[in-house]
Amino acid sequence: MNRISTKLTAYFFVTVLIMETSLMLYLHRNIIDSRTEEEFNRLLANGSNHRDVLTAYYSETTMKHIVLMEKDGDREVLITDARGEIISSSAEPEERLKKYLPPLDTINATEDQILYADWKDMPYIISVHPYQVASGPSGYVIMFQSTTSIKHLVAKLNMHFGLAGVTSVAALFIIYAFLSKFLTRPLIRMKEATEKLSKGDFDVSLPVIGKDELGELSGSIQKLAGDLERLTVERNEFLAATAHELSTPLTYLNGYSKVARRQGIQEEERNRYLDIIAEESERMKELVHNLLDLAKVDENSFTVSKESFLARAFIRDVIKLVEPSFAVKKMGLEVVMDEDFKIYADPVRLEQILLNLLDNALKYSNEASAVTLEVYKKEERTVFRITDSGLGISKQDLPFIFERLYRVEKSRSRSLGGSGIGLSVVKELVEAHGGSVEVTSQLGQGSTFTVTL
Ligand code: ADP
Repeated sequence: MNRISTKLTAYFFVTVLIMETSLMLYLHRNIIDSRTEEEFNRLLANGSNHRDVLTAYYSETTMKHIVLMEKDGDREVLITDARGEIISSSAEPEERLKKYLPPLDTINATEDQILYADWKDMPYIISVHPYQVASGPSGYVIMFQSTTSIKHLVAKLNMHFGLAGVTSVAALFIIYAFLSKFLTRPLIRMKEATEKLSKGDFDVSLPVIGKDELGELSGSIQKLAGDLERLTVERNEFLAATAHELSTPLTYLNGYSKVARRQGIQEEERNRYLDIIAEESERMKELVHNLLDLAKVDENSFTVSKESFLARAFIRDVIKLVEPSFAVKKMGLEVVMDEDFKIYADPVRLEQILLNLLDNALKYSNEASAVTLEVYKKEERTVFRITDSGLGISKQDLPFIFERLYRVEKSRSRSLGGSGIGLSVVKELVEAHGGSVEVTSQLGQGSTFTVTL
């Protein structure tokens, strides 16, 4: 009873049963009532006809004619005198009919009427028609109509209705099979698929089953399996990349600190080693910083405390931070800002956003290329646009670059020091400000990132 198809069929069955039973009872009763009514009316009409003829031409010959007329049909007739003595009868012996009547001298009918209407238990329905010849004899014409034909009709009706009942039960079984095939089985497969997913097995293959709700659900589960698989792969790659990223500077730190500690080396040489140690520890700090931000994104615990500050001085400070790295790569960094104005944002977070985007522009550009940072006001909002003429991003990758851990061409990104976190952090920070970030890019020609706060 736990299967949805069984439940649906059971509900359906009960509904159909109630509807069909009431409809059948109504039809059954109506058909039989109108058929018996017809029989009663015909019997009364025949009886009154005979009575009229008898009253008009009362004689033994007339009685014989009346009896003869009813001899071979499924009707019988009895003619009695006023005392109830049978004068003429179509049945021989007449006792065959008489036994269905009350004592004839007790019949006291003044007009045509049905004497017995019980067609179910009696072999005849009976009508009585009093006659009175003008100043002469009187009595009754009693008509008998066999109930066999009505009983036949009822038996036939019962059979047809029974057949309709059996057919609807068969139809219900077909519906059950249909529901089971198109509803229960796909649901069971989906249940099994989700169980597999929860155990970490993403090798799920659900059949395409149309565009209805079930089809959509199946499609969503299939997509979920794909997404989970991709996320797992990305996570593993990310962990490997992070471990790699951390191990390289750690190796340098370890090696160069040992060398720098040695006695007897020149001051200049020691300084070179210390520079390397400082540079590598800076890289590590940045990576750990990004990792911490990512963890905060996951916990939803980013805090943004907005304040008003002047744009020019703020941008100048940001540029100061990145200029040395741009100089190392012989790249130009141009700032386009016509007038000074106030920015309303979290300065620490905004710096993080711009540093991430400028760092990407630097990382994914060739030596000696140019990067532009435009800053301007647009309808009460501040727009920061960073344009580079570097490697660019392909159309296929573009929709995903803001996803966490997504890296275009993993090897390229890794060799350039990327870990796939920067842009997702940027997006979260921008959205925490109630702003938006957009990108346009052409592979091999460069990219433009636009932040609106
Ligand atoms: P990563 O730490 O790998 O740079 P990001 O989230 O910052 O991670 O960027 C995601 C991916 O988008 C990168 O792997 C890189 O390939 C691509 N990308 C980001 N910025 C640029 C850019 N300015 N030019 C070309 N590719 C970019």
